[in-house]
Amino acid sequence: PGEERRVNERVETMQAATEQGPLPVVAVVGRPNVGKSTLVNRILGRRAAVVEDVPGVTRDRVAYETAWAGRAFTLLDTGGWNPDAQGMAARITEQAEMAVATADVVIFVVDSVVGATDADESVVRVLRRSGKPVVLAANKVDGPSGEADAAALWNLGLGEPHAVSALHGRGSGDLLDAVLDALPDAPQEAFDEEEGPRRVALVGRPNVGKSSLLNTLARENRAVVDPVAGTTVDPVDELIVLGDREWWFVDTAGIRRRVREASGAEYYASLRTSAALDRAEVAIVLVDASEPLSEQDLRIISMVVDAGRALVLAYNKWDLLDDERRIMLEREIDRQLKHVSWAPRVNVSALTGRRVDRLVTAMDTALDGWSTRVPTAKLNAFFGDVVAAHPHPVRGGKQPRIMFATQADTRPPRFVLFTTGFLEASYRRFLERRLREEFGFDGTPIELSMRIRE
Ligand code: GDP
Ligand code: GDP
Repeated sequence: PGEERRVNERVETMQAATEQGPLPVVAVVGRPNVGKSTLVNRILGRRAAVVEDVPGVTRDRVAYETAWAGRAFTLLDTGGWNPDAQGMAARITEQAEMAVATADVVIFVVDSVVGATDADESVVRVLRRSGKPVVLAANKVDGPSGEADAAALWNLGLGEPHAVSALHGRGSGDLLDAVLDALPDAPQEAFDEEEGPRRVALVGRPNVGKSSLLNTLARENRAVVDPVAGTTVDPVDELIVLGDREWWFVDTAGIRRRVREASGAEYYASLRTSAALDRAEVAIVLVDASEPLSEQDLRIISMVVDAGRALVLAYNKWDLLDDERRIMLEREIDRQLKHVSWAPRVNVSALTGRRVDRLVTAMDTALDGWSTRVPTAKLNAFFGDVVAAHPHPVRGGKQPRIMFATQADTRPPRFVLFTTGFLEASYRRFLERRLREEFGFDGTPIELSMRIRE
């Protein structure tokens, strides 16, 4: 029962932490056979540790979510990338570089019975260059007689060697305490800190009906804001109550003040749009459904995607549509808006008030997708399956592999893939499609970037 409770507590800590933001990554590095996997299993608290006795055996899972003393983190086991005998030294350095690139803290495992080898020294050089905090684990200190071997590792110049026995558990608690001390303080996300209403940018080319829609929304729903002495009389943003909640519509002054410069109008409109997007979390792109989609509409949609904002597409002037136009519109959307097929669509009429309430549901959906975080272990299990079923095509005799993936950020979701080669665009699109099928991400752009180790 004690064990069970510990596990439950761990699960709760992890859930709380995943809601709070990205987990810090702790990477376990070292040459083969020093006991990395044994240590990982020890930290994860598994009773039956599955450890191969043969150096170079590859394991398929590399990242685990776990917790110690109430602090959750992702544990990265580089044992899964064990190199083959050929070119081993280079591969070990490579692994260390990759771990360092992802990790907040590195646990460097050395076999204290064997002592520091040349391969260990080359890892030390990588670790030193990185400037990342390193906790040195002097492993295989199974009893007090091994302490002297551990102390000899002061020579590596990485600070105190923590004597541990991954096999028996000796010293592993102290090691983890040292790891927690080295972790950066829990990161705060900019938007999280700010409480209060979500921020919406209502954008679209001139004449699509932005100010009409704004008037319709605000007519009965404008929130009463206490005028604060000394603030400007002409507020640029407006607080509007929709679906029982308040929303900040940013730069409504820009929408209402209909300044139409004769020349350069489009240029100024685009500056305004981009300024509004900067301050918003979600954008409603309004288009005129009664007219063909224009270049400018598409440009505005791209601006939202590039700004990394949640996106809702609203088709206005629905009251003007006849059947013929409706069919045309469906075709247009299929053809021209395929790249944003993940965005929720709402057909509205600012004039009649048709379905404007649906905008709230759509914004909620988009904001949810925008903040979605996939735990590292889940993400790697997912990529493992996807890649096994659909490996990257072989190019020039080489086949790039994904070794590790992590979601580096939310709002919007950003993924970093550690690969052994360049993933071509069509394959990245395939991965993005699969990610969306698996985890949702409705209404949000997502970003996939690569860190390549040739
Ligand atoms: P990795 O290749 O670095 O992941 O190393 P493994 O975890 O696979 O361990 C290599 C070998 O060292 C296995 O036979 C383990 O049982 C053994 N080993 C690991 N940790 C310890 C330890 O603390 N003490 C002893 N005596 N053996 C250990
Ligand atoms: P903005 O430039 O995007 O702010 O667009 P406006 O709100 O000024 O609207 C441009 C024109 O479209 C005006 O003549 C509006 O009356 C008209 N309009 C806006 N929304 C609708 C709608 O839902 N249906 C119809 N039929 N006309 C609309």
